[in-house]
Amino acid sequence: MAGILFIISAPSGSGKSTLVNQLRSDVSGLDFSISYTTREPRGSEQQGREYHYIDRSTFERMKRDNEFLESADVFDNLYGTARHALTDAAKHGNDLLLDIDVQGADQVRRQMPESVNIFVMPPTPEVLAMRLRNRSRAEGSISEEKIQLRLKKARVEIENYNEYGYILVNDVLDHAVEELEAIVASERFQRGQQSRSASGEDIKRLLAIADRCRRGNAMERVIPVLTAFGVAEPARTR
Ligand code: 5GP
Repeated sequence: MAGILFIISAPSGSGKSTLVNQLRSDVSGLDFSISYTTREPRGSEQQGREYHYIDRSTFERMKRDNEFLESADVFDNLYGTARHALTDAAKHGNDLLLDIDVQGADQVRRQMPESVNIFVMPPTPEVLAMRLRNRSRAEGSISEEKIQLRLKKARVEIENYNEYGYILVNDVLDHAVEELEAIVASERFQRGQQSRSASGEDIKRLLAIADRCRRGNAMERVIPVLTAFGVAEPARTR
C-alpha cells in the first residue's frame, strides 16, 4: 500500500477501543480496517461497524480463498483482516489502522516490515481486572472465569512487547490519546507528509512525545508494568 500501515495491539480490556475511536475521530486521512469475526456482537455493537460478524463456515471459506491478510483464533473465536482493507485505503489515498492481536500483528509484520507497530499496555493487572469486570457488568456477558482467562492471556501478550516499535501505557486516557496521535503525526512527518496547519513548534512537540514512546525510550514506564504482570525479562530488547 502507498500509505502508512499502523498496527495497534493490546490485551483485551486495556482501553484500546476507546483510544482507537478517539484517534479515528481526531485524525483525518486514516482508514480503519473493520475485521471479520465469528464472535457474537456484544452490547451495542452493530454489524459492519465494529466488526463484520460472520459464521465459521463463511470465515473458513474466506480463509481458503486467501481473502485474509492475517487471521487468528482469539478466545476461541476467529478474527481476520481482509486484504481489501489495504487496497481500499490505497484507493482513498489514506493510511490504514489495524486493531489486531499479537498473533495477527506478527503475521502482518512478516509481510509488511515497514508497518508501524504500537503496543498498548494496561498500567497494572489490578486496573486491567477492574476494566474487564466493569465491561462485563455493562454488557452482562463475561463470567469471572473468562476474566481470569483474559488476565492470563494479557500476560502472554505483554511478553511480546519487544516486537513493537512503540509502547504506550494506558494510565491516563488523555495522555495515551495524545501519544497515539503524536505517533501518527511523527510517522507522517518522517515520510514528508507534513500537516499544513501544524506550526514548527507543534511538530517539535509531537516528535518529542512520539520519541518518548519508542520502545527503547519507554522502558522506564514499561518495566514496572512488566514487573506487575510477572514478565521477568525486560532486557530482551532488539
Ligand atoms: P474483541 O472481541 O474484544 O473485540 O477483540 C478481542 C481481540 O481480538 C483484541 O485483541 C483485538 O485486537 C483482536 N482482533 C480484532 N480484530 C482482529 C483481527 O482482524 N485479527 C486479529 N488477529 N485480531 C483481531
